[in-house]
Amino acid sequence: MKRLYVGCLLFEANTSSPLRTDLEAFQNTYLAEGEETRGLIGANVEVGGFYSAMDRHEGISVVPGFVTWGVPGGKVTDETFRALAHRLYAGIRVAGKLDGVYLSLHGAMVADGDDDCEGLLLQNVRALVGDAVRIVVSLDWHACMTRRMLMHADAFVGYRTYPHTDLADTGRRAAECMLRLLSHGRRVRKLFARVPLIVPVEHCSTDTDPSAAVVGMLSRLDGAAGVLTVVHSMTQPWLDVEGHGTSLLVCCDEDADLQDLAAKRDDVLRFIWESRHAYTVPVADFTGFMVGLASLAAPVCAVDLGDVITAGGPGDSTFLLRKLLENRVTTNALITIVDPGAVEVARAAAAGSVVDVELGSASRGYNAQTRVKARVLRVTDKPFTPKGPALSGFTVNAGWRALLEIGTIRLLVAQHTAFLHDPEAYRSMGCEPSRAALIIQKSHHLFKPAYRDIMNACEYVDTPGPTARDLALHGFQKVRRPIYPLDDLTDFVKSEEYEL
Ligand SMILES: [Zn+2]
Repeated sequence: MKRLYVGCLLFEANTSSPLRTDLEAFQNTYLAEGEETRGLIGANVEVGGFYSAMDRHEGISVVPGFVTWGVPGGKVTDETFRALAHRLYAGIRVAGKLDGVYLSLHGAMVADGDDDCEGLLLQNVRALVGDAVRIVVSLDWHACMTRRMLMHADAFVGYRTYPHTDLADTGRRAAECMLRLLSHGRRVRKLFARVPLIVPVEHCSTDTDPSAAVVGMLSRLDGAAGVLTVVHSMTQPWLDVEGHGTSLLVCCDEDADLQDLAAKRDDVLRFIWESRHAYTVPVADFTGFMVGLASLAAPVCAVDLGDVITAGGPGDSTFLLRKLLENRVTTNALITIVDPGAVEVARAAAAGSVVDVELGSASRGYNAQTRVKARVLRVTDKPFTPKGPALSGFTVNAGWRALLEIGTIRLLVAQHTAFLHDPEAYRSMGCEPSRAALIIQKSHHLFKPAYRDIMNACEYVDTPGPTARDLALHGFQKVRRPIYPLDDLTDFVKSEEYEL
């Protein structure tokens, strides 16, 4: 009987956010240990996919371990990272004799004191279990793979969809990879390369080219002789770390043709490099967006690019709300905003009453406070479950939330950040998004699968905030230069390349 420990510590950092992420953010999203985590079977998350794949295999005994993740946000405090990592280490220590460890990580977790949390985590897990135990890791498409990470695990798998809808499937592929590694004792070789390219995310969906073509190339590389896994990562753009860029990792058998596989890997990177202009297309500001809005069929989904929660934005920007009010827009609009103070005001009021609320935090440079009169339509603290493909079956807890009416605007105010990309965020408040004309979204792509049958048009709006699209505004200090699009590079070059 082979014994496998399963753990997860998944978080995507945004180093431009003025906020810090603490333990509460993980508790609010998901934090559990042991048998309780089997409740994730059926939810579209990696650990759920890994459990269900392994449950079908006789001769495998899974030890459900420590599983937590947080909604993307600002850097994690050192205290929080230490506390979470130690729970994971403690779980591995008491698990007894192990043959393998599967870890579901993001790959772009940054703490105040460490830019490479996953590297440190894997180094410590390897030290705990020794070299004979197989370690397989799954990563997000926006991971920032580092040498330290790659040195201390046997193999990696990664998402193949953006919007990310293959989380459980990624867990299943991690399980297949683990079974292959357990069935033979051979060493895995890793062929890694990075190009100095930060890929803007608006036109990066795998539903369209060039990313659809990239996924096709990755699938062909999967099938090359000797290949175990292929992981592609376009690092999360708002991450001020040295090893930024777009990378490709090929994990292969030790007797594979390494030179040929490295050449095939570089073909994919060269294609991405040569497609860079297709990813960097202009986006309208609010004024330009409003000019175009009249000609679009409703409902229109519009992404508030400066405050994307799923890229680590605090979700608290009042920018578009203020613009709609200042311009006396009479469109039926839905907006979400994170504002615990406003939620408190709504909780204290009776349903149907009109309250004075101040939205937005004055302490954050990109934001401005705005005072509005709003009717309280509904207040609840009941979690909801996305029904669309992105994170389906996963319970979302946004704390207390209130639905407010400000003229033709309906404002969903949440106590803290959460995955609010699914229409259930509104439907759970008695509000049907398909009846709105304009729906402001705070995710780049994650909302699209569930809104596909609701929206008739989708637009991006260039707005200020920690996820603002102009990377030159973010004042990166650590990112290794030159890098496109911060620098004007023309020739295909690799900023890093090595074999392990
Ligand atoms: Zn991602």
